[in-house]
Amino acid sequence: MLRTDPNPPTVPTTARDVSVFGDGIAYFNEAAELLQLERSMRAILTHPSRQIIFSIPFQRDSGEFEVYTGYRVQYNFARGPVKGGIRYHPGVTLDEVTALAFWMTWKCAVVDLPFGGAKGGVTCDPSKLSDSELERITRRYAAELVEVVGPDKDVPAPDVGTNSKTMAWFMDTYSMHMRQTVPGVVTGKPLAIGGSKGRVEATGRGVTIIAMDEMENMKIKPSQTKVIIQGFGNVGMWAARLFAQRGCKIVGISDVTGAYYNPKGIDLDKAIELAEKDHNLAAFRGGDKISNAELLVSECDVLVPAALERVLTSENAPNIKAKLVVEGANGPTTPDADHILNERGITVIPDIMANAGGVTVSYFEWVQDKMGYFWKLNEVNERLEDTLITNFHELRAIANRHRIPYRTAAYMVAIDRVVQSLKLRGVYA
Ligand code: NAD
Repeated sequence: MLRTDPNPPTVPTTARDVSVFGDGIAYFNEAAELLQLERSMRAILTHPSRQIIFSIPFQRDSGEFEVYTGYRVQYNFARGPVKGGIRYHPGVTLDEVTALAFWMTWKCAVVDLPFGGAKGGVTCDPSKLSDSELERITRRYAAELVEVVGPDKDVPAPDVGTNSKTMAWFMDTYSMHMRQTVPGVVTGKPLAIGGSKGRVEATGRGVTIIAMDEMENMKIKPSQTKVIIQGFGNVGMWAARLFAQRGCKIVGISDVTGAYYNPKGIDLDKAIELAEKDHNLAAFRGGDKISNAELLVSECDVLVPAALERVLTSENAPNIKAKLVVEGANGPTTPDADHILNERGITVIPDIMANAGGVTVSYFEWVQDKMGYFWKLNEVNERLEDTLITNFHELRAIANRHRIPYRTAAYMVAIDRVVQSLKLRGVYA
């Protein structure tokens, strides 16, 4: 049985507290004001369609039972089935999942995908759980959501702390309940069971495609560009690889264990080898060990926060050295920090555009699963580049025309697209 939170926390309408959803609402309000959006539309779009909270009892390998909390927030269905990742992290809360679902709504609209936004999560520390424990948690999580997910309802994907293996367990559990194999219920699956070529690296690839395009616009040459990347997981590691392939110098990287800075350039092969072997960078010796806080304000041209939200704040924004910030993570910049960066003339490419490569290739995976016909890697990558660049250039034209930051332009485009769908469909009230 599904249980819905009987007392959902009050949704903040301003971003003056520590709510991540509050950050999102503040960005939304700014764009809604410029669009002169009606009150009724604002009311609908600042409320999630559905928030689901449930218990996940599971057995530890020791035989003991523990109970974790699972969430799925389906934010808005106006443009199609909802789409969004599943996060396994100790910091997962309803507020965070709601904010992430909210951002997925705008992200899908910014790149014009026929999806609404969703997000899910389990409050747990996957680094302290065995594979079999993670499998039991995932299967129970999927089973709790059987009625509300599906290729035409809600299509999860990986996020922080989850990966293609998690998606395979989710797909199998759902398929068992349906009594048939349903590959399209999740994206980010292994290739052998309906995954798409190019999906693993798609978010990092998208980050670099957008960054390179903006660097060209700003007349910054890759060969003279120093890049710092916070977070060395799926997004950060792939972004680092692809920035380096395009001739940039990676001078700083980090993960949950700390940060490493080397003005001569980080030995990426060594870092990737460690991250793949140990799942962290603790043993990395190729640079000065500094804190994550110090890394963000270290010397560089391009800064890519690719870990978690709220890392660029009013405290460190005055000291950021980068000329360009490309948001690989979702919600890494608080609204106060965003204003400071804008005033300082630092260009910020917002999450809903910069990291949309992942959901774009997830969409391609969903399409391929529906067709039962799979594309070559170069087809995936070409379509990805085309989708991102076409939509990014549209944002640039709007940003230039109205003299507004990319973030505001992105929200304006996204809100406008969702509102068009809402108005055409009408509100069933
Ligand atoms: P991941 O779990 O693969 O990696 C997260 C990385 O961040 C790890 O290296 C971890 O050690 C590091 N990290 C965690 N806490 C940290 C801290 N306090 N300081 C510094 N580093 C820390 O996750 P991911 O999939 O790479 O996601 C990273 C971000 O990108 C998240 O905000 C996620 O929502 C966003 N994102 C991911 C995708 C995707 O396709 N995976 C798509 C769009 C956006």
